[in-house]
Amino acid sequence: MDFTCPLCGKHIPKELLVIMAHTEAHIIEEIKKKHPEWAKEDALCKKCYEYYKQQLRLD
Ligand SMILES: [Zn+2]
Repeated sequence: MDFTCPLCGKHIPKELLVIMAHTEAHIIEEIKKKHPEWAKEDALCKKCYEYYKQQLRLD
């Protein structure tokens, strides 16, 4: 079954699902700035993960 990314709303295959590690708290914070309702247990798609990782580099 496909997974729906809570951040971009896209349907993605389970293989592209990213589960955040607690060591990535800085990325989690960045996501929560824009999506306060999101919890790391909700996971996200690889595209969103790369996007927010990139946002951190720009800060
Ligand atoms: Zn996404």
